[in-house]
Amino acid sequence: MTKKIKSINPYTGDPIKTYETHTTQEVSSILKTADQTFSSWSTTPINERAELMSRAGEVLLENKKEYAEMITAEMGKPITQSIAEIEKCAWVCEFYAVNAAQFLADAMIETEASESFISYDPLGCILAVMPWNYPFWQVFRFAAPSLMAGNVAVLKHASNVIGSALLITDVFKKAGFPEGCFQNLLVGHEEIEDLLEDDIIKAATLTGSEKAGVSIAATSGKNLKKTVLELGGNNACVVWKDANLDKHIETMVKARMQNTGQSCIAAKRFIVVEEIYEEFLEKFTEQVNALKIGDPQDKETDISVMAREDLAREVKKQITESIDQGAKVLLGNTQNKTYYEPTILVDVKPGMPAFDEEVFGPVAAIIKAKNETESLELAANSRFGLGTMLFTENIEKAKKSISKIEDGAFFINEMVKSDPRLPFGGTKASGYGRELSKDGIMEFVNAKTVYIS
Ligand code: NDP
Repeated sequence: MTKKIKSINPYTGDPIKTYETHTTQEVSSILKTADQTFSSWSTTPINERAELMSRAGEVLLENKKEYAEMITAEMGKPITQSIAEIEKCAWVCEFYAVNAAQFLADAMIETEASESFISYDPLGCILAVMPWNYPFWQVFRFAAPSLMAGNVAVLKHASNVIGSALLITDVFKKAGFPEGCFQNLLVGHEEIEDLLEDDIIKAATLTGSEKAGVSIAATSGKNLKKTVLELGGNNACVVWKDANLDKHIETMVKARMQNTGQSCIAAKRFIVVEEIYEEFLEKFTEQVNALKIGDPQDKETDISVMAREDLAREVKKQITESIDQGAKVLLGNTQNKTYYEPTILVDVKPGMPAFDEEVFGPVAAIIKAKNETESLELAANSRFGLGTMLFTENIEKAKKSISKIEDGAFFINEMVKSDPRLPFGGTKASGYGRELSKDGIMEFVNAKTVYIS
C-alpha cells in the first residue's frame, strides 16, 4: 500500500506538493534495474564515466537557479547559500571526473611474485539514506565518487525534500547517465530494514541522526554489509587569548549560523579563555546582531526559518533545560513555529543539554575556560568527534595540540568545512568512514589483491 509524503514550505507554511510512496513492486523493479545496470556500468571505461560526471557538473550549473529555489522552498535555506550548495556539487562532480582514474589505478606492490598489485573493483548497488539540511550536497558528495568507482546507487532521501531528490535524479538523466545508475526510492524510513536485507543492496551510507545511524548499522551488521555513517556533531570552537578577533569573528559567526545553524559541522560550543572572553562576547554579539533575518528567497537574507517546526521545538526544549540548569540568554531565544531567533547562551557548562547534546539550530553556547589547557579539555569533553576549531596567532603552539584532538578534523583559524580534496568524517558518536578525497572513493570498492607467481 502506498502512503503520501507531503512537502511543506517551512517559511510560508504552504503545501508544496504531495508525493505517493513507491509500492513494493515498484521498489523491487527499481532494485532490479539497478542490478542490471551495474553489469554494464561497472565495465564502462572510466574516461566515459568521467565525461558523464563532468556533464552532471555542467547540468548543475546550468540549472542552479531552479535547483536552489527548490532547496530554499523545501527546507528554508537562504537562497544565496542554496546557490552556493549547487555550485559546490558541480565542484565535487568535476573533482572526481578529473581524479577518479588516478585514485582507482591499480596499486603495484613489490613482492617475490612476478606481479602483485591491488585492483579496486566496484561493489554494486549502494543505498544512500540522506538528510534534508544540505539536500543536494549530502547526496552529491556520496554519488560522485561512488558512480565514478563503477557502483550504482539508490537514494532514500529525507521525506521533507522529495522535490530535491527528484531534481537530483534529473541531473544524472540530463547528463546522459544510463537509467539505473542513480534512482530514487520514495519510501518511508520504516522500509530501510527490508532494503538492507535485499541481496541487491551491497552497502549503505547514511548522513543523519545518531538514532538513524544505530538502526542502519545494526541491520547492516546483521546482514554483513558495510556502512559509512556521517552523524551528528558538537564541534568546539576554541578561542585563545591571542586570537585575532577582528580578522576571524565573522568566520566564527558563520561557523554557527550558516544554514540557520542546521549543520553537523557547525561550531556549537564556543570555548573562550577568560582573558579574551569579554572582548569575544562583545564582537560576537555585534556580528550576530548584524545578520539579516528574513524571507529565505530574498538574496539579502542571512538567516531564516528552520526546516521543520518539530526541529525548532526540540532546540527550544534543549535551551530551556540549559537555562533551568544555570545558563543565561545574552541574545534571542524566541521561537515561533519554524522560526528560531539567533541566540547566544552564556554560562554554559558540562551537564547542560547546550553543552552535551547536538543543538541543531541557530544557538551559540558560550563557555568560559580558565586557560588553554582547560579549553582543550572542555573541547574534548564530548561524545561526538566530528571536528574542532582553534583560533590563535601562535601556530606553532596550536600544532602541538594536533595529537590531542580525537576528532575527524582540526581546523586552525578557519571553520570546519568540507572540501572535495580533503577527507571528511567523524569519530565516536559522529560515526565512521570517510567521504570525499581519495579516502571517500575507497569506501565502496573491493580492494582486491592480485598475485601472479
Ligand atoms: P533523521 O536522522 O531522522 O533523518 C535523516 C535521514 O534518515 C532521513 O532520510 C530519514 O528518513 C532517515 N531515517 C530516520 N530515522 C531512521 C531510522 N530509524 N532508520 C533509518 N533511517 C532513518 O534526522 P531528523 O530529520 O529527524 O533530524 C533529527 C536530528 O538529527 C537533528 O536535529 C540533528 O541533530 C540530526 N541530523 C544530523 C544531520 C547531519 O548532517 N549529520 C542531518 C540531519 C539531522 P525520513 O525523513 O523518512 O524520516
